[in-house]
Parts: sequence; C-alpha cells; structure tokens
Amino acid sequence: MSLLPRSVPRIILRRSYGTVQSSPSAASIASRIPVALQEATAATVPRTTWTREEVQQIYETPLNQLTYAAAAIHRRFHDPSAIQMCTLMNIKTGGCSEDCSYCAQSSRHNTGLKATKMSPVDDVLKAARIAKANGSTRFCMGAAWRDMRGRKTSLKNVKQMVSGVREMGMEVCVTLGMIDENQAKELKDAGLTAYNHNLDTSREFYPTIITTRSYDERLKTLSHVRDAGINVCSGGILGLGEADSDRIGLIHTVSSLPSHPESFPVNALVPIPGTPLGERKMISFDKLLRTIATARIVLPATIVRLAAGRISLSEEQQVQCFMAGANAVFTGEKMLTTDCNGWDEDREMFERWGFYPMKSFEKDADASVSKESAPPSANVSAAPAAASS
Ligand code: SF4
Repeated sequence: MSLLPRSVPRIILRRSYGTVQSSPSAASIASRIPVALQEATAATVPRTTWTREEVQQIYETPLNQLTYAAAAIHRRFHDPSAIQMCTLMNIKTGGCSEDCSYCAQSSRHNTGLKATKMSPVDDVLKAARIAKANGSTRFCMGAAWRDMRGRKTSLKNVKQMVSGVREMGMEVCVTLGMIDENQAKELKDAGLTAYNHNLDTSREFYPTIITTRSYDERLKTLSHVRDAGINVCSGGILGLGEADSDRIGLIHTVSSLPSHPESFPVNALVPIPGTPLGERKMISFDKLLRTIATARIVLPATIVRLAAGRISLSEEQQVQCFMAGANAVFTGEKMLTTDCNGWDEDREMFERWGFYPMKSFEKDADASVSKESAPPSANVSAAPAAASS
C-alpha cells in the first residue's frame, strides 16, 4: 500500500528522485577540494616541503571537509581509537625571569603564585608511579626556568627523575626552558624520550607575546634536542589574540623543520588574572578544531596533543577533536598551574566513545607499520573506506 496521500501527484515523486540523482558526484566534490589537501590526502609518508600557501589552503578548507580529510589521514598513520594519557607535573613552580604574557609563573606578573624550590626526586617519582597506576603512559615534568645555565645540581636531579621514570616503563618528557647541545646529550643519556619547547605562535606574532627570548633561540633549542636524538615536542597556544595567519604560520614552521616534531601540543589559552592576557576570551571551538585538523593533515605521523584548556571543552567537543586527529591528552590532578581533567573522567569518556589508552612507545612502531602498509594513493572521496577499516 502506498504511504503517499492520494492527492500527491506522481510527478512530484519523480521530481524528488530526480533531485537525489542530480546530487554532486564524488568526483565533483573532490574537484572542489584544494589541491594541497588532495595531495596531502594521497600522501603515504610525512613531507617537510610544505609552503605557507599550501598550509593556508588546507586551513581554509570548509570545516566539514577539513575534518573529514583529517580523519582519513589519521586512520592511515595511527590507530584512531588509541589516545595517549599523559601526566604533567610542575617540578619547580614560579619565579621565572621570562615575560611570557600568558604565564602565571613569570616573576614579572602579579598572579599571586608562590615560587617554590625544585621538588625532591623521590616526590616526583612517587607522582609518576601514581600517574602510571592510573593509566598514564607518558610522564612530563616542567620547571619554570629561562634556561639551564649554571643549574648543574638541578640538571643532575632532573636526570635522576628521568632515569627513574624510564625504569617504570613510561615515556618521559621534560620542559626546562632553553638547553644547549651538551645538556641535551646528558638528558638523552639519562633516558629522556622527548623534550618540550613550544614555539607558541607564528614568528610574526611571537614578539607581542614574549620579548625576553627570540623565536630563533627557541628553534635553536629544538635543533639541539633533535641532534641529541631526543624526540621533539613543540606546539602552540591558541587564543593569544593571534589571527588565522598566525596559526597557519605556526603549523607551517613546524611542518617545514628538517623533520616533524613527534609531538605537537595544541593549547587553548587559560587566561590567568594578573597576566597581560588575563582578560582574554577562550579561542572559539571552530578555530581550535580547524587548527587540530590542519596539524593532523600536515604532520600526519605526529602525535597531536589536546593540551591546556581541554577542561573548558564539552565531552562532545573533545570527541570531535579526537575524530579530527588529536590523539593525546593530559590527565591528572593539575596541568602545571591550571586545572586538568581527571583520570576517572577520561577513562569513562573513552569507554563511552570507544577509545582506549595508547601504550607507552606504541606510536613509533605503529607509525612505521601504517606507513608501509598504506595504499599507494587515496583521495578525499576514498575517505569513507579508509575510515571504516
Ligand atoms: S619560560 Fe615558561 S615558565 Fe617562564 S614565563 Fe615563559 S612559559 Fe612561564
């Protein structure tokens, strides 16, 4: 029996089918995708020859197409269900001589934060054990220093912390400000997995945020880290007042380094009262998502970390970020001086959406396998097949 009311003439039914048949074909959809994105979607290995214009083309792709492509690329280079849980501990709080406009730990801003001495090694190892017991597979330690000059005893203690955490079978990352070649080698010998040193934003916008050290000094530290054989962790902060072109500039800089950082943290500014950026509003979610998706596409084998500011996102927004290529989070009681999503909360979220925690050192093995077994070419219209594999 027809479900159509008798009064509906047959011609309308035909016209309705006609509309479906004339919907855009996969080929015509693909033809509207920027060339740079089409090439990125076909790539089976990371490339370091991106031009800023290409990164811009990708960043400016309509958001639904951009996240769709990012999801397809994510599946080629990573297990899309695995998300790394990391814990970040502040091992030396406040009193920093730098003037980073967003930071509660700069001695130049009146934030009420009390400077502390460096935490004892045993306390740090105890915190790492707790993080591991709760599912974190990477333990990161941050110290509010400009650099490591004249800090021999501190470096000795940090090395003990690094070795101790490695003995637990966890990945270990530190962020200690600028380091030279020898300090990088010493940290490598202690067993350091990764060194974090964010570029924060584009080269052009950077001087409006920090004046006490240059962009080139930051890049120099990254090259010392790379030369020592330590993995590079370097990303940015969104919501500093930067423009789209600055987010594009940041991604372009890291994507055109001699090799891509193994880790790209995407932070959303958490405005701290008393800092020059204390009144800023959080970055809009669409810009955050667009940045994550672009980073995933341009840095396909890199771990993209959804870092500071995650606590302000809804669960659904976080999941959108994971689907667009983010595959690591910071979990625990605190993230440096700001609040952080807890382990239980994250575990429950993972279960609800079908994610599971990434194992330590899993990524390197996975990436090489994925790259070798990736199809010789793919395009945006092939994404659904890749997505369901
Ligand atoms: S160098 Fe680090 S700790 Fe020091 S002010 Fe800048 S962000 Fe804060």
